Amino acid sequence: MSPLIIKTRQEPSELVILKTLKSRFTLSKEDQTKYYNLNKGLEGEQQFDALLENLQCECLILNDLLLTINNQRFQIDSLLIFNNKIHLYEIKNYVDDLYFESNQLFKKDGFEISNPLIQLERATSLLRQLLLKNNFQIPIQSFVIFINPEFSLLQAPLDKPFILSSQLNRFLKDINKEGVALTQQHKKIAEKLIALNMKDYPIQQYPLYSYENIQKGINCLHCISFSFKTTTNRCLQVVCLNCGRKEQLESALARTIKDFQLLFPQDKITTNKMYEWCAKVISKKTLRRFLKVHFSQTGSNRWTFYS
Ligand SMILES: [Zn+2]
Repeated sequence: MSPLIIKTRQEPSELVILKTLKSRFTLSKEDQTKYYNLNKGLEGEQQFDALLENLQCECLILNDLLLTINNQRFQIDSLLIFNNKIHLYEIKNYVDDLYFESNQLFKKDGFEISNPLIQLERATSLLRQLLLKNNFQIPIQSFVIFINPEFSLLQAPLDKPFILSSQLNRFLKDINKEGVALTQQHKKIAEKLIALNMKDYPIQQYPLYSYENIQKGINCLHCISFSFKTTTNRCLQVVCLNCGRKEQLESALARTIKDFQLLFPQDKITTNKMYEWCAKVISKKTLRRFLKVHFSQTGSNRWTFYS
């Protein structure tokens, strides 16, 4: 028996934008911190996903849900549907040790951080309401998973649903004992949650950037360099002048234009614009040919744009 993954995890769109921007623009201190935290969070979640994939019991896994009930939005890192219950997980990839005191979490220097239990209790309550509204009655158990093996929670209370990295193996072994088969009803719960899932959190605050102050050009996949040469053999490649890695010109162009679409979704893609975006190092003829093959064309001559 093995779990069935109903929904996989996506990179948050804010992280995708920050990652793309990072190579072309100097992020503010605040955005650098946001990037670090989002990236760290995703790494922790992916580590937990990998552990769940190795479970040896029948359950349905739904990762990364964003749901709404009564105008209240809530997010779930991972949700497992078993025969007789649902498990809900909030995953934290903290590195620095924390201590727990009077229902609050503190860093060693006494600085208080948000207690993930509050987030967890809210999500559990809202999920319960959402399931009931859709006529599903199934108990929910929820846990905060501290995935980082370096992390310790000092004065961790025994009566709270905290699972530290050192306890995870035993915790997953216990889950493996859940041997009861699932029914159509369980699939219906999963289908309903997928149907209600919203795509992504709307980004609260975009980093401040403009076309003018952003680095143009094709960047290397492996290093931060923007300098390269194109090969002259039949199969066109770009060669990074910094690290020497090669990439097919087609794939380098696809990446570079994708960056533009992501950072400037309102702007039209034209041959001239992409010529400028590629720092004028790829000929307009090559670009036009590429766009014709990979994008759909609207208009003609000087009004042509691609989408
Ligand atoms: Zn390179």
